[in-house]
Amino acid sequence: MKIQNLMSRSVITAPANMNISGICALMEKHRIGSIVILKDKFPLGIITERDIVSFIGQNGCNPLSYKNAGDLMHSPVFTMSPKHETREALQFMASKRIRRLPITDNKRLVGIITYGDIIREIQKDLAEAQIKTQQLKSEVEKAQQKTRELKTEVARDGLTKVFSQKHFKTLLEREVERVKRYGGLLCLLMIDIDHFKKINDTYGHDAGDYILVKVTELIRKHTRKINTIGRYGGDEFSIIAPISDVESARRLGERLRQFVSQTKFNYHGKIIRATLSVGVGSWDKTIIDGRGLIVKADKALYKSKHAGRNAVSVV
Ligand code: GH3
Ligand code: MG
Repeated sequence: MKIQNLMSRSVITAPANMNISGICALMEKHRIGSIVILKDKFPLGIITERDIVSFIGQNGCNPLSYKNAGDLMHSPVFTMSPKHETREALQFMASKRIRRLPITDNKRLVGIITYGDIIREIQKDLAEAQIKTQQLKSEVEKAQQKTRELKTEVARDGLTKVFSQKHFKTLLEREVERVKRYGGLLCLLMIDIDHFKKINDTYGHDAGDYILVKVTELIRKHTRKINTIGRYGGDEFSIIAPISDVESARRLGERLRQFVSQTKFNYHGKIIRATLSVGVGSWDKTIIDGRGLIVKADKALYKSKHAGRNAVSVV
């Protein structure tokens, strides 16, 4: 900031030949601690309350009426142009150990600036910068939250809210890496609704959506938290069963098959029945990635379809 934007323009001044009593009266009248002493409009110096106190301390009160302002000033006055930066004025005052600086333009007094004025301004700027930083921080946090929400949205299927195929595959890849590295058990179930096209054709697409949501709910209800569920395709779901041997995975598939086949789905008063075909694939050392396990579980699913549907098969 330029000095001209911060300096005070109403400066109390007195001529150099004014006696010290007069200076004291001026200070009292204007309730001010310093007076700029002028000669022909040019500042000769500054007299402060401190100067007067130390003068009285050294000389007593008597000389106040016959000694004048000029007698109080020893060193030449420092001035600065209003076009300088306040930062420069601050450095200058600090180096000269002064707290007030008369501001002159073409040798004429135009204002005064104090150390306190500049410090207060800096503090104000700092406080504003802190508020701005805080606002920016909260904006960044909001954007991060939004990114997290968007990521979750992309990872989930819009209709059933289980993982989308893409995200499911990523999670499956991690599981395969885990068993490859540390050993252990891993199974994958591929589940497909039988003759789903017929449900759509008979009851309408919305009824089909309803069945997809309800089947997902049943799958959720009868699996555990460690099971990852994905919507693999239109009417196809997949479940990761970690730490499960092939027999427990087959039993899980069988439970799901039974629950769905026993459920009477009620869509706006219409009872709809559905059945599932399930394929179970278990990880073995020949499987090097998620795709390998999907191929194996898909083969098993094909077996169930081929066997007449509403069945669970293992390969
Ligand atoms: P299959 O027993 O051999 O699995 O027979 P299917 O009729 O279930 O198999 P197909 O793959 O021929 O049909 C799946 C149908 O699912 C076709 C498609 O129109 C329908 N579909 C895919 N996505 C959705 C969806 O989000 N909502 C609804 N309502 N239908 C969908
Ligand atoms: Mg189907």
